[in-house]
This record gives sequence, C-alpha cells and structure tokens, in this order.
Amino acid sequence: MKRLWIVCLWIGFALFCNRTQAQENRRQMVILDPGHGGMDSGAIGINGIKEKDIVLEVAKEAIRLNKELFGNTLDIYLTRYKDTLISLSNRTKLVKVLQPDVFISIHCNQAARKAAQGIEVYVQQHNTSMSSELQFVSENLSEAILLEFDQALGFKIRGIKYANFQVLRETQYDSPGVLLEIGFLSNWEEAEHSRRKESVRGYAMVIIQALYQLIDAEYY
Ligand SMILES: [Zn+2]
Repeated sequence: MKRLWIVCLWIGFALFCNRTQAQENRRQMVILDPGHGGMDSGAIGINGIKEKDIVLEVAKEAIRLNKELFGNTLDIYLTRYKDTLISLSNRTKLVKVLQPDVFISIHCNQAARKAAQGIEVYVQQHNTSMSSELQFVSENLSEAILLEFDQALGFKIRGIKYANFQVLRETQYDSPGVLLEIGFLSNWEEAEHSRRKESVRGYAMVIIQALYQLIDAEYY
C-alpha cells in the first residue's frame, strides 16, 4: 500500500513538472501575411520594384532572424511562402484555424503625391461587438512597430489608422491583428531604400523586436 502511494505521488509530481514545462515551452504563435502575390503585384515602385516581392522577402527574413538570432523563440507561419496569389478569405481562414497570438499583414504603400513618405499601421475600426482585449493588444503592437521604425530605422511615422480591411475585419474575433504599410513605393527615396537587402533585413528586425516588446510587457 505504501508503495502504491509513493508511485501515485511520483506520477503526480511528474505530471505537474511536465505541465509546467509545457507551459514554459509554449512559443508565441505569429502569422505574417505578405500581401498580394502571383498575378497581383500590389503597388509597383517608381523604380520598378514590386510590393508583392518586398513583403514576401520581409516575412521570410523575419523567419530567418527568428531562427538565427532569437533561438526560434517565436512560432512564425506565413500565409504564403512563394510568389503565389492567395485569396483574402484563405488568408483569414488560416488565422481562424491556427488562432495565433498575433496576426500581421504586411504591405507597402503608394500615393498619387510622390512626396508622401512614412510608415502607417492599420487596426480594425472600432465597433461595439469587438473584444477590447484584442483591440488593446493590436494597438499596443502598432505602437511598438511604429516606435521601432522611428527609433531604429529613422522613418517618418504617420501613425495608427483605423480601417475596415477584409483581413482585419474577418480576424477581429480570433486574434489581435494589424496591417503594416512599410513606406511608399511611389516615393523615390523609400522605393530605393526598400530595394536593398539590408533594408529588408531592417524591416524584418523591427517586426521581430516589436513582437518581443509585447512579450516582455506580457500583452499576449
Ligand atoms: Zn498592398
């Protein structure tokens, strides 16, 4: 009988340790959504570069940096890994299935006014049925991304904007989400900057750093 108690205690302790370890080992899941792809080039830069290519490079670079510099701490998935067109509803379906801790759609901006520059981050516009907790994390992530683009890369910051984009609208109950617009391809200086490999690496680094700020603040 005594032996049975000891075995029970030992199993209980082992289960407890396993659970604690599993909780500690749980990696924050992030879905990065490189916009456009395939036939849909997105914005075409004043220098000929394409939005679909830059955003895919940024997302893949984020995966590389996470592995090489951050010990693969974040569990990152992409909505596309190649130059293929994925429908917006299939992108949001992935978010609904995986239920990530954070969803970031990555785009580049363009405007008729060639002088327009800077970084914008979009969040789903407020509505009464929204979860204030998801909204809170989305806004904090936006602020962290903008701060990093300002301080680490010296970009002009155009701020947080509210919109009703499909990818944010359809995922607003599943995950905190933002849509990031990295610079203007219609602006010569920013388009030339985005052409460079080091710049793409910088954009990816900013995204990863912003995600870590959120983890440190225990917002998700
Ligand atoms: Zn776009």
